[in-house]
Amino acid sequence: MNPTIRAAVTSGLMTLAWAAQAAPQAKPEHTEVWSPEPARVMPASANRAPSDAVILFDGQGVGEWVSSAVVASPAAKPVPWSGADGVLTVRPGSGDIQTRRTFLDYQLHLEWRVPAGLKASGQNKGNSGLFLSTGTGNGYEIQVLECAANKTYANGQAASIYKQFTPLVNACAAEGEWQTYDVIWTAPRFAADGRLESPAYVTALHNGVLVQNHVALRGETLYIGEPGYRKHGPAPIKLQEHGEAVSFRNIWVRPLDR
Ligand code: MG
Repeated sequence: MNPTIRAAVTSGLMTLAWAAQAAPQAKPEHTEVWSPEPARVMPASANRAPSDAVILFDGQGVGEWVSSAVVASPAAKPVPWSGADGVLTVRPGSGDIQTRRTFLDYQLHLEWRVPAGLKASGQNKGNSGLFLSTGTGNGYEIQVLECAANKTYANGQAASIYKQFTPLVNACAAEGEWQTYDVIWTAPRFAADGRLESPAYVTALHNGVLVQNHVALRGETLYIGEPGYRKHGPAPIKLQEHGEAVSFRNIWVRPLDR
C-alpha cells in the first residue's frame, strides 16, 4: 500500500476506534467534577483585599512589620518607617523592614509610589525593592525604581528580578503616581542535604501588565557577582530602604501552601 494511503487508513481507523470507545458513555455528566468545591473567597476591590488574604498593610498600623536590623533581637524595635496617613513610607537611613510572619508560596499585591521631583538618576532615583523572600539573607528582589523617565541597566529597572530578568515591557506610570505589583511566588525547594530540588519561580504584573512570566530564578539577589542558592525554608517578605522616601500601601498576601 502507498505509504500516504496507509497513513490515512491508519488515522481513520484510530478515529473510529476512539469514537467507538466514547460512544457508549457519551453523556456530559461523565466529565463533570462536582466535588470538592473550591473555597469561597470574596474578591478584592480597590480598597479591600480578598477575604482570605493576610493583610500586611492597610493603613491601620505597621504591626505586621519589623526592622530587619533588629529582627534577631528578642525585643525587636518597632518598624522604623513612617506609617502615617495610611501610607507606609521609607525613612531614609533607617534600614529595611520585613514581615514578622514567614511565607512559602503565595500571591501578593502591593502598591508603591516614587515621590515626584527627585533630582537623582539611574539606580538612585526612587530605589526601593520588594524582596519576595529574605532567603538566607540576600533574598530575591523585584526592583522598585522610577522608570517612566530614568535610564538604567535593563535588568535593574523597575519590575526586573534584579540582575537576573529584565521585565518583558516597561509598564511604569509617571513619578508621583501609585503603581501596582501583583506577584505569584513559588519558593525554591531543597533536599535535606541542601541540594536544590526546584528553583524559585516568579510571575509578576506591573500595573496589570505581565512583566515576568514564570521565570526560574538563578538564586538569591547579589549586587556584585552571580546569584546562587543556599538552603532555606519559609522566610519573611522584605521591603528595601535605599535612601529615598518611596511609599507603599494596600499590601496583602494569600499563602498558597496552606
Ligand atoms: Mg532596590
